Amino acid sequence: MKVFKFGGSSVKDATAMKAVSKIIIDNDDCRIVVISATKNTTNELELIAKESIHSIPKSQELWDKTISRHREIANDLQIDCEFQDLDSEVLELIGKFNKCQMISSEYMDQLYSIGERLSTRILSEYLTSHHSKTVLYKDVREVLITNDNWSKASPLITEIQDAFDLKWKEILKNSLIVTQGFVGVTTEGRTTTLGREGSDFTATILGESLGANEVIIWTDVTGVATSDPRVVENTKFIKKLNYVEASVLAKLGAKVLFERTLEPAIRKGFSVIVKSTLTPSELGSVISDSPPHNGPMAVTTQGDILSIVGDKLLSEKAHCSKRLLEMNQIDYHVHEQEDHFICFKIPSSQMDKALDVVHCWVLEFHQNE
Ligand code: ADP
Ligand code: ASP
Ligand code: MG
Repeated sequence: MKVFKFGGSSVKDATAMKAVSKIIIDNDDCRIVVISATKNTTNELELIAKESIHSIPKSQELWDKTISRHREIANDLQIDCEFQDLDSEVLELIGKFNKCQMISSEYMDQLYSIGERLSTRILSEYLTSHHSKTVLYKDVREVLITNDNWSKASPLITEIQDAFDLKWKEILKNSLIVTQGFVGVTTEGRTTTLGREGSDFTATILGESLGANEVIIWTDVTGVATSDPRVVENTKFIKKLNYVEASVLAKLGAKVLFERTLEPAIRKGFSVIVKSTLTPSELGSVISDSPPHNGPMAVTTQGDILSIVGDKLLSEKAHCSKRLLEMNQIDYHVHEQEDHFICFKIPSSQMDKALDVVHCWVLEFHQNE
């Protein structure tokens, strides 16, 4: 049994939604599909909230653009999708923000949830008419119970398992569920979110409840690479990663995975696979309890911190990386250092160069893979 998660760029328009649907239809053992908001929608919702403080009409104008874009996707897919209820909900929230002259974090989470509720409605409707299986749109707030730490909520695992067993377990025997990433709910029924990019985490939380043997994070790159392939040249995709290495990489800034994604996988021992929606036949990166890399595996940056991630990085490897920076006249200082990572603070003017030289060094350790 598998859970699939598709990110914003994988569902950005009708063509992308069709490609995603084909992947789902071709994979019989996919039981739950978790979807992000369409590309840029969550950012648009943030702007709508900000604008609502100054001007209700301007904020509504922005919202009109967002909802029209979703209506266009539904039209292009030739499906009937009603968004009237979501439209009213957003207009009410805009009014509330304006009246209070403040964006409360609780209501912001409710506004955030609209993005995923729009995208899942469209995809589930399209799948319903194209899949031979019964496809059900489900509001994730039926099961994904969290604390009330608005905009960075933590899942309550026991409550989630109980709700899942009660509400979804039986249904899943005969149907495929399409549901929202990122969104949760408190025990009192108030909407929460797990943090920006949190849909990856939703997928593994639901994978844990389902007893899945695999969760696939479908995205716009072939897998986890030695560095961000959109920033660094000649990156190499890593076929196998150990849970710890992948978690550390995510926590130190690699956007490809939300930082808490692997917690449920580590608890239950299922694999998480990162694959591309654009090239579904490629194997992607498998994250499991496989042996760690003996040395540096990847390099990532976050602000002025450059981090080398891998295993057995203390001693000799740390020494080599420092020498490398010195030889290239980069002013560094060691910010933090452990067996799985070395974090250097680097002046912003030297970051590009540092990333380049450190990445070339990391690549040497992948030569024989
Ligand atoms: P999604 O919308 O599918 O969640 P994200 O944009 O959140 O996608 O994550 C995928 C992006 O992560 C890639 O397009 C890539 O630019 C970035 N990225 C950063 N570090 C890495 C890495 N080490 N390996 C692969 N991708 C990375
Ligand atoms: N839509 C949310 C965001 O853009 C969550 C996600 O995409 O995972 O942050
Ligand atoms: Mg993401």
